[in-house]
Amino acid sequence: MSVIFEKSVAGRRGVGLPACDVPLVDCIPDDCLRAQAAPLCELSELDVVRHFTALSRLNFGVDTGFYPLGSCTMKYNPRVSERIAGLEGFSQLHPFLPQLRSGGLLTQGALQLLYELERVLCEIAGMRAFTLQPLAGAHGELTGMMLIAAYHRDKGNVKTTVLIPDEAHGTNPSSAAITGYGTQGVPTDPATGRLDLVALEGMVDATTAAIMLTNPNTLGIFNSDIEKVVEIAHRHDAQVYYDGANLNAILGKFRPGDAGIDVMHINVHKTFATPHGGGGPGAGPVGVREHLLPFLPISRIQKRSDNSYVLDYEQPKSIGYVAPFYGNFSILVRAYAYIMLLGGKGLIEVSENAVLNANYVMQALKAKYELPYDRPCMHECVFSASRQAEKGVHATDIAKALIDRGYHPPTVYFPLIVKEAMMVEPTETESKETLDAFVAAMLEIADEAEQAPESFADRPRHAPVCRPDEVRAAREMDVCFDG
Ligand SMILES: *Cc1c(COP(=O)(O)O)cnc(C)c1O
Repeated sequence: MSVIFEKSVAGRRGVGLPACDVPLVDCIPDDCLRAQAAPLCELSELDVVRHFTALSRLNFGVDTGFYPLGSCTMKYNPRVSERIAGLEGFSQLHPFLPQLRSGGLLTQGALQLLYELERVLCEIAGMRAFTLQPLAGAHGELTGMMLIAAYHRDKGNVKTTVLIPDEAHGTNPSSAAITGYGTQGVPTDPATGRLDLVALEGMVDATTAAIMLTNPNTLGIFNSDIEKVVEIAHRHDAQVYYDGANLNAILGKFRPGDAGIDVMHINVHKTFATPHGGGGPGAGPVGVREHLLPFLPISRIQKRSDNSYVLDYEQPKSIGYVAPFYGNFSILVRAYAYIMLLGGKGLIEVSENAVLNANYVMQALKAKYELPYDRPCMHECVFSASRQAEKGVHATDIAKALIDRGYHPPTVYFPLIVKEAMMVEPTETESKETLDAFVAAMLEIADEAEQAPESFADRPRHAPVCRPDEVRAAREMDVCFDG
């Protein structure tokens, strides 16, 4: 496919503007004027529509097929949330509209929605307060670590190190490092797939700023020792950061705040079905316990005694701005819509079905794929392609073979502690028929790996981009391709 500029034909137009009927004014200084016309492409409307429609068909998304990309929770985004976020009263708001006085009527509803979303997140997670400002999960982690650093600074604590389990998402160590801390990995107990508590006890000391814990962890295993972890950390005035990216597995079942954790983030795209959209725009609200409240980013939404809402910027201990204005407002509207749509009972069903679907797939595949942690899982399960790898068929080859069968591959080679890892997360929005078809495809692939391992070398054969030379592609960033 050619890029849109290659389709340009000099003089072709997609719009017909009427002749200018006001006098032309020469007001742009000469040195600001272009010497030559901008190199824009010249196309008809139909050319443009066909080009982008064709491009959109090369995409794979939750709307086109099953997307079991572990850890990413690629659930269906209900259209009703999109519709609500698109309502004029939300979508046409300008961030500079006044909060109160004459224009206030236009923004009070938006502020009320944000205020109520914060309250409802507190209820779901068991936390004292949330900031809705961070723009992604990783940004929430960074914000949370900045809160922890502010807390230690305020108390005069000298802390240098953050402890992070070896199965953690890569964003955890990077958030700690950007905040200025050194990081140390805590091993996972191979027998249980949970944090090794004895090792942890030996590592925590007066220099420990925080422990970052993901629960359920990236192996899909729930850590029921969490209260013990909190107790060990607090003994040394270390804070417990809870990576809440996997909240989808525990909605209505377990509230991190009840276990005494200090800070957490929620990935609204993974939990409350807002779009993932190519790395953003997202939201990663951060919840805190009482003692961290003064450090939250500005602005804070306050409800006044006359039931009006204002943004409060007067927080002397605040870590300051982490995002402009209200955070990613339209994403937060979608999250609010989703929570209200399902209600408490619906949210419990979300986690029950997410866990049921993952266990169903795990049981159906474990005869042919190695399951390093063979125990009931939460929302995702991690296989290893080690048996297939003996024949020369690696996790990446299985992923490519799935693409030919119309599936998005699972996450491969993560978590790092599992060799040839394949992390399957079906989510709650998939039907039994879809899961059965996926299982059948995976079992067929296992048989093929056994009988004809050489047939994997040129997979996928039916995708818009077939098998690139990955080493060369990483070095020569030429994104053009034929086809
Ligand atoms: C997805 C994920 C993150 C990062 O969240 P983003 O919203 O993608 O920035 C962090 N930790 C875990 C465990 C995750 O699954």
